[in-house]
Amino acid sequence: MGIRGGIDLGGTKIQAVVVGDRGAVLGSARLPTPTTGGPPDVAAAMADAVRQAADEAGAVPADLEGVGVGSPGAVDDRAGTVATARNLPDWLDPYPLRDVLADALGTKVRLGNDVQVATDAEFALGAARPYKSILGVFWGTGVGGGIVLDGKPWLGRAAAGEIGHIVVRIGGRRCPCGRRGCMEAYAGRGAMEARAREKVADGEKTVLFEIMEDKGKPRLASGIWERALERDDKLAHQIVDRAVEAIGVALASSLNLLDVEAVVIGGGLGLRLGEPYVEKIREAMMPHLFADHRPPEVLLASLGDLGGAIGATLLAAERAPLGTHS
Ligand SMILES: [Zn+2]
Repeated sequence: MGIRGGIDLGGTKIQAVVVGDRGAVLGSARLPTPTTGGPPDVAAAMADAVRQAADEAGAVPADLEGVGVGSPGAVDDRAGTVATARNLPDWLDPYPLRDVLADALGTKVRLGNDVQVATDAEFALGAARPYKSILGVFWGTGVGGGIVLDGKPWLGRAAAGEIGHIVVRIGGRRCPCGRRGCMEAYAGRGAMEARAREKVADGEKTVLFEIMEDKGKPRLASGIWERALERDDKLAHQIVDRAVEAIGVALASSLNLLDVEAVVIGGGLGLRLGEPYVEKIREAMMPHLFADHRPPEVLLASLGDLGGAIGATLLAAERAPLGTHS
């Protein structure tokens, strides 16, 4: 049996893994995402991460059966391109990432949507294994969603699963997408930080920015929110509770439409805050759920930080990625 590679391409880090049978991780490597330059620089760093992960697995990239990539932006696997990846440097026009990586690594490469591959990973190998139809919710800088219906990923016309842009308040706060009242305008970590800065400008006290400075971080990373909640910071609690409320509303609305069996909560903030906050999201969902006599399971993602990269390896499998499931 072959070994496969997977890359989770994020705005701050590039995570690569090499897996063997049944997704067992044999090697992994994490590199910072280049913040300057352009797509060729990012592609070069991605290839480096795969080389390092392969090395840890006692292999070279050409030994890999294939490499899958979970990418942000508009991913076109047929054309082999990624466009409009706004968190990546100078990456708006379609860039032929598949062929550039295939040349650099000497193996075939497939591209997928980052959130969808993370959902597929939880479906095939993680917390959602017992179910046929699921919704993945990834709570981080933004809030992404992935859908599996009856064992198959549902991508729509490539933009399905955008749970972060479900409207939770008509005429509400401005979302990073430019529209108003989206869930992400309340629950995305970027929006939460903006809210905290506004409150501080209004004279409210919080330990959030002290912790940020102590840790030498430029942004309110997930670990900073976790720490502030542990210290019972009032503003952190208010903002996180509001985020949970917004996620609960959007989740219930999604479930009223799709009625899937299970929901998996992941993402940087979701994983950090863990089970207690999964329970809070469940509680926030219930009042808005139509079929509330049999709510779906709401579960914490079980593959952790490596879930996205492990999911990407499924793209490189010989068989249909989710075919191993049932
Ligand atoms: Zn939006």
